[in-house]
Amino acid sequence: MGFNCGVIGLPNVGKSTIFNALSSAGAQMANYPFCTIEPNRGIVPVPDKRLQEIGKILGKNDPIPTKIEFIDVAGLVRGASKGEGLGNTFLGHIRQVDAIIHVVRCFSDENIIHVTGNVDPLRDIEIINTELILSDMEVLERADEKMQKQTRSGIKEASHRISVIERMLSHLNEGKLLKNLSLEEEEKKIAAEFGLITNKPVLYCANIAENEMPDDHLNKIREFADSDHSRFIYICGKLEEEISELPGDEKREYLEAMGLKESGLDRLIAIGYELLDLISFYSAATDLQAWTVRRGTSAPRAAGKIHTDFERGFIRAEIMSWEDLLKYGSEHGVRDHGLLRSEGKDYIIEDGDIVRFLFNV
Ligand code: GDP
Repeated sequence: MGFNCGVIGLPNVGKSTIFNALSSAGAQMANYPFCTIEPNRGIVPVPDKRLQEIGKILGKNDPIPTKIEFIDVAGLVRGASKGEGLGNTFLGHIRQVDAIIHVVRCFSDENIIHVTGNVDPLRDIEIINTELILSDMEVLERADEKMQKQTRSGIKEASHRISVIERMLSHLNEGKLLKNLSLEEEEKKIAAEFGLITNKPVLYCANIAENEMPDDHLNKIREFADSDHSRFIYICGKLEEEISELPGDEKREYLEAMGLKESGLDRLIAIGYELLDLISFYSAATDLQAWTVRRGTSAPRAAGKIHTDFERGFIRAEIMSWEDLLKYGSEHGVRDHGLLRSEGKDYIIEDGDIVRFLFNV
């Protein structure tokens, strides 16, 4: 599986509610090929308005969207880094995700216990972030010890690694997340070896009540997210869960009646996609299908997403942009305007490219 986002947060903040909404949105996609959903892992189609528009022009019904995976990582509590509440197991799961969706409770409901007593999003964020920081420190301290032994046995490269590790440790010691430490490219490679949690991109997701807009809390989280170079979104998890269970048409009608263009869930998925620095390209040789690559991927690597033979035997790619297709109304129209391009192996795929790969194996 490709790219995934882990949903984390204190207990009773609405993680499972949001995760269930995501999973049931995924399970409802009839033409969706890989819908196996495990209890805490859900593969979710990425909403993409371009797909329908391209499909209409090319006469392709039921286009296949691309997907990302969400993982519900329950069980983070204060003291997790010291093993509280199966802490280390859960931290181990977070270590494996590509990006983090940190759910913060902004709804008050006296029937649902708040683990820290009352609604206070910044305090809750700090509790979780402290556990993540402590967990990364433990990993780095162990690595530091190992490297110290290696320098003593005369391994030269170890001393450079120690200097990078120690810079990271002193940054964490100040209570800061590693993703905000500026590192050289080559230092980033060293950091990447350790699966550090606080190095991952983060989206703070405020879970609000149906009937109340807690502006004060939301502003504080938004400001915090900005200062932390993270993303911010608010949604009502409970409402999203209800909407996600409606059949397609009813869902659209419901959103229209509420004056909304898209559900909060759709925005959440879209931001998750951006967080991972992902882009979509399309193939239309048989079905119209969207594919995901990281920004900066070359044409042959992108071809390999569809079939390994396409990458192995890559000759060139014929490419038009989705905007040109919409503008000129057909592939002929795009070709007549000289905008159907032929690109070689150094071409970097752009978001919205419609691609036909030519290959020979
Ligand atoms: P988790 O422990 O973070 O996974 O939390 P859950 O998703 O299990 O939610 C805990 C409880 O809070 C459940 O009873 C949910 O129905 C409830 N809940 C979730 N979101 C909301 C909300 O927006 N408003 C209210 N009143 N309850 C919610």
